[in-house]
Amino acid sequence: SDRVVGAVARALRHADAVRRLEVRANADTPEDAARARRFGARGIGLCRTEHMFLGDRRKLVEEMILARTDAERRHALDALLPLQRSDFTGILEAMDGLPVTIRLLDPPLHEFLPDRTELAVRIAAAEARGERPDPHDAELLDAVGRMHEENPMLGLRGVRLGLVVPGLFPLQVRAVAEAVVERTRAGGDPRAEIMVPLVGDVTELRLVREEVARVLAEVAEESGVPVRCPVGTMIELPRAALTAGRIAEEAEFFSFGTNDLTQTTWGFSRDDVEAAFFSDYLDKGIFPASPFETIDRAGVGRLVGIAVAEGRATRPDLTIGVCGEHGGDPESVHFFHTAGLDYVSCSPFRVPVARLEAGRAALEGTDGSDSR
Ligand code: PEP
Ligand code: MG
Repeated sequence: SDRVVGAVARALRHADAVRRLEVRANADTPEDAARARRFGARGIGLCRTEHMFLGDRRKLVEEMILARTDAERRHALDALLPLQRSDFTGILEAMDGLPVTIRLLDPPLHEFLPDRTELAVRIAAAEARGERPDPHDAELLDAVGRMHEENPMLGLRGVRLGLVVPGLFPLQVRAVAEAVVERTRAGGDPRAEIMVPLVGDVTELRLVREEVARVLAEVAEESGVPVRCPVGTMIELPRAALTAGRIAEEAEFFSFGTNDLTQTTWGFSRDDVEAAFFSDYLDKGIFPASPFETIDRAGVGRLVGIAVAEGRATRPDLTIGVCGEHGGDPESVHFFHTAGLDYVSCSPFRVPVARLEAGRAALEGTDGSDSR
């Protein structure tokens, strides 16, 4: 097996020498970041911050989203800031000297709100006991009712949530900036990038960028440490792909979210497609294969091509990557090379496969320009 390990190592070295696609990893803990680096990832292409708002922190997020007064919201934001800062410091340390793309919060809203049924049951139970229900429960039920969505995955998610909850994105950006300052002072080389999720219109991105610029300037001024973080966007809605030329006016980089882009291109639910009703549908042979399998077959590749061309027409130096599941799928990696992307980002364990496939794609010279 030493021979096998040696052969794989040689193949990887060879692939690294010829490939044009960079390979990053999706990671949101320092441990995953360190693991990804050992597998050869040259940075983090997607750090999903919503994973940092679960568990003990849920209460604070709930408080922030449902706050009735500025003081209540401030309280939640102040409590979250040091937690987020240390999340980012750890990841930037593990990926020192390499890009770390931190995506602003992108949860479907219902994941953070208290459960309506639970609240209603609590209120009814108090009434049944002849007691006065907790007024806070009644207020919460009312607030949650007002924010209820039938289709949360297509609702107040990503940038849409960020634009309606005051202070949310600025809190995250401040945490990133303060982590950059901390790492810089410790002699490190932090390379944070800020990514905005679920953008469908350039105006959304412009508004967030203005906030980001303001917060970065504030932190630089307070600390005396210059903080520069490129700002970019996910391209994960057909409208974003089709208006990429305008979106590129406000973006220093694009990253394709092929999970959502596939879902919205096909018009079915990514949460159900691999199980539930959809497996029935597939088993009956209506589709030749899972539409999530390769990007090209999914037709999503066409949208990728349009967005690359339009984005670079506006901004020739636009950095473009992919961070959906396709980023670690060999056939799709090949496609991304051909489409002219700069990097793919996949789960840490798939990094070696992506490196090999990127090398093979370069050797085949399938992009018509580069036949090293
Ligand atoms: C995507 O949509 O492809 C993506 C990377 O983001 P998420 O899976 O977190 O929605
Ligand atoms: Mg997505």
